[in-house]
Amino acid sequence: MKPIGLYLHIPFCAGKCPYCDFYSVIPKGETMDLYTAALCKKIKEENRIYDTVYFGGGTPSQLGSERIRKILACINRTPDCEVTLECNPSDTGTENSAFDFEAIAKSGVNRISMGLQSAVDRERKSLGRKSGQAEVRRAIARARSAGISNISLDLMLSVPNQTKESLKKSIAFCADSGATHISAYILKIEEGTFFHKTKDRLILPDEDETCDLYLYAVEEIGKAGFRQYEISNFSKEGSESRHNLKYWRCEEYLGIGAAAHSFVDGKRFYYERSIDSFISGNAPVDDGEGGSEEEFIMLALRLSEGLKYGEFEKRFGKSIPTELTKKAKELEKHGLLTVTDSGISLTANGFLISNSIIGALIESVEN
Ligand code: SF4
Repeated sequence: MKPIGLYLHIPFCAGKCPYCDFYSVIPKGETMDLYTAALCKKIKEENRIYDTVYFGGGTPSQLGSERIRKILACINRTPDCEVTLECNPSDTGTENSAFDFEAIAKSGVNRISMGLQSAVDRERKSLGRKSGQAEVRRAIARARSAGISNISLDLMLSVPNQTKESLKKSIAFCADSGATHISAYILKIEEGTFFHKTKDRLILPDEDETCDLYLYAVEEIGKAGFRQYEISNFSKEGSESRHNLKYWRCEEYLGIGAAAHSFVDGKRFYYERSIDSFISGNAPVDDGEGGSEEEFIMLALRLSEGLKYGEFEKRFGKSIPTELTKKAKELEKHGLLTVTDSGISLTANGFLISNSIIGALIESVEN
């Protein structure tokens, strides 16, 4: 059996951040035990082998090291399996903490993703982060001394009161911390969040300022030695997220847990956004066929390497439609993408309006 990726959704958070619409609840010990048991049961039933495992959330570190160990003990992994765990710096470091980097490293975690969002404490506070940047720095040091040197930090762009100067400080923090990977996402005000309710009172960068902040981030992160490999992702040489690359390369992955999505054997399916439903053993919901030509093109264009004609031909047994390359050449004149003999890739300006460009390219094929 060919190894695939495994995503585990851990829907527990100590509180709700004001901008977040992910599915999560406040953790209780008994519920986390039942949830861990349900994850283990499902993992064993699937009986597959994985070359990447990603604990996402929510806040997986809320589970504590022992539950994480139990889950990892059920997973058949390849020897070089990348095992990422998203963690909150506040969950580690106290004597009584149930989460400990040494323990999770022993269980097989070899990559950590931490939500820095900003290294400017005033901005962190407005994003609902309880810890200051000093605590994040200490957590990174603890992870590294436990032998986990592959560390990704999340940065948020266009947050309330952010300026280029404050963003520069956050990027410098990432570079100095020894992180090997940065994910830099533009804040979106999602319905149902606290920010959405209070949006009229927030001082947010406008659309032009947001574009400037993104382009500035691309440049500064690049200067700090990180290569952009996706719209929002940057890494040191060889430290790209192997798990997330599977999504953008339209490769297979299994998602287990409340609200987790999967793409396996050409089918997409997902679990309901309900812990109770998952613990009760309800089957995932069918989400139709996946991996179409359009989907492959859309996902590939999120990557800096872009859409490679050879990969498309290998997968679908035919050439890229000429209408698409014709449209791409038109857009190239506006500096939004680059067309070569081997493929099409978006520029940093193109990434800013990737949805419209990808939409226009797909439409050229459909018409
Ligand atoms: S941003 Fe992360 S920590 Fe905050 S509520 Fe959402 S999932 Fe939880």
